[in-house]
Amino acid sequence: MAEITRRRLVGAAAIGAAGTAAGVVPATAAGRRRVRRVDVAVVGAGLAGLTAARALRKAGRSVIVLEARDRVGGRTLNTSIGGGEITELGGEYVGPTQDRILALARAVGVKTFPTYNLGDNVQVFDGVRGTYPATGLPTQADVAADIPRLLALETMAQEVPVDAPWRAPRAVEWDSQTLETWVQATAKTEAGKAAFRAAVTSLFGADARDLSLLFVLFYIRAAGNETTRSGLVGLISTAGGAQERRLRGGSQVISQRVARQLGSRVTLQTPVRRIVQRDGEVHVEADGISVIAQRVIVAIPPSLTAQIDYRPALPAQRAQLIQRMPQGSLIKCEAVYDRPFWRDKGLSGQAVSDTGPARTTFDNSPPDGRPGVLFAFVGGSDARAFGQLSPAERRKRILRQFAEYYGDEARKPRDYVEQDWSKEEWTRGCPVAYTAPGVLLDYGPAIRRPVGRIHWAGTETSTFWNGYMDGAVRSGERAAREVLKA
Ligand code: FAD
Repeated sequence: MAEITRRRLVGAAAIGAAGTAAGVVPATAAGRRRVRRVDVAVVGAGLAGLTAARALRKAGRSVIVLEARDRVGGRTLNTSIGGGEITELGGEYVGPTQDRILALARAVGVKTFPTYNLGDNVQVFDGVRGTYPATGLPTQADVAADIPRLLALETMAQEVPVDAPWRAPRAVEWDSQTLETWVQATAKTEAGKAAFRAAVTSLFGADARDLSLLFVLFYIRAAGNETTRSGLVGLISTAGGAQERRLRGGSQVISQRVARQLGSRVTLQTPVRRIVQRDGEVHVEADGISVIAQRVIVAIPPSLTAQIDYRPALPAQRAQLIQRMPQGSLIKCEAVYDRPFWRDKGLSGQAVSDTGPARTTFDNSPPDGRPGVLFAFVGGSDARAFGQLSPAERRKRILRQFAEYYGDEARKPRDYVEQDWSKEEWTRGCPVAYTAPGVLLDYGPAIRRPVGRIHWAGTETSTFWNGYMDGAVRSGERAAREVLKA
């Protein structure tokens, strides 16, 4: 229980700080519902919702952001690790072509720093431990032989239009199979398949068997911006890729600063329960507050949009889409040490293994390397089993694997924190929603299509960097443009 209790306390402290810093206001108690009239109501104070509100306010519109939690930032979350330092329990990395999150960070004065990427990464396949340069891909012979075969995904993805993956020339063929089916047919070695699966569970919080091949190709194609493709190698890389840089002070600070600028336009602890469109207006009913607006932007994960009661009811295609977009299962487990001792051994803190729970790890230390922080992603079916173990057993298993990668010092951290996003009422899994075969083809077109005065945002609706903080910001900007145009 120790870890859980500590995490809650730390989380509560972070929440308190966030709330105060942001200057946001809690709603009055449910029952005494206030009524507000604005141009646009925004549901969700994650990066998408806050970006949309910021853009609308700049355009001179009145806006209110209704947030269910008692903090802003959604899937980004800072937690204190003492001595004025924090670690991030949600999204944290940024990289080249993620222009919109980088621009937002700049606009609110949050700087970036390079992810520690010096020395060697650890690879463990079939119980054999080895290392390879942090700037490259795994070198274990079987894995290295399979990598060029698996990189065929890169070429296939180029055929997928980011704004309409269902129109890819081979959409039917690709949305009729899982990624696992394709991997089985393509990779020739067990180690190659295992290395690929490890990357997949960390990227999607889902197993290759859960994922439509078309969805994965879309996701690879969406990694990049309008002019430059980052692709599969970019998705899994640190140098030059999606893990290249981190945000000083932690990613959640961006949301906290945007919320502070919005001031009392952000209300916390106001989960939206019902959206009623009538008489040329939209009534957004949350705990403690009712908002009457011209338009509403719903900026929450797709499966959570299904928990809201819509009047009139959503069109069938939209209603069925959101029944078919589950959130991934991803747990972030972090151990804090006095020093990043692995660096002294020439190790980067990055590892990949065919065995769970900690199939991938990263060095998550603050910019000056004090204290040292290692984290593991536990994803997909590993996460579903791991999340049910006792806190003590989870900690034991993670530290045992850290010791296998980095040496016995890893067994004695000064602190251990973890976050299971599937257990979070207002996220229910992460990092992103995904689709199984058949969904994009028949339901995909409903993903961004407005329903009357309801507009949809959130990283899952983005055409670039879908699933990432950058995608969230892009989606908020797009939804704001849509509303202004309407
Ligand atoms: P969210 O952040 O989910 O925001 C939605 C908000 O809506 C939340 O605040 C929620 O509380 C609120 N809400 C939900 N329902 C309601 C309701 N009914 N009424 C009112 N409010 C509601 N991305 C990266 O770019 N780099 C990374 O390294 C990275 N790693 C990740 C690791 C983990 C462990 C996780 C969890 C995510 C990671 N991501 C990463 C993904 C990134 O965090 C998300 O893509 C992004 O934060 C999503 O922002 P959003 O605004 O779309 O949604």
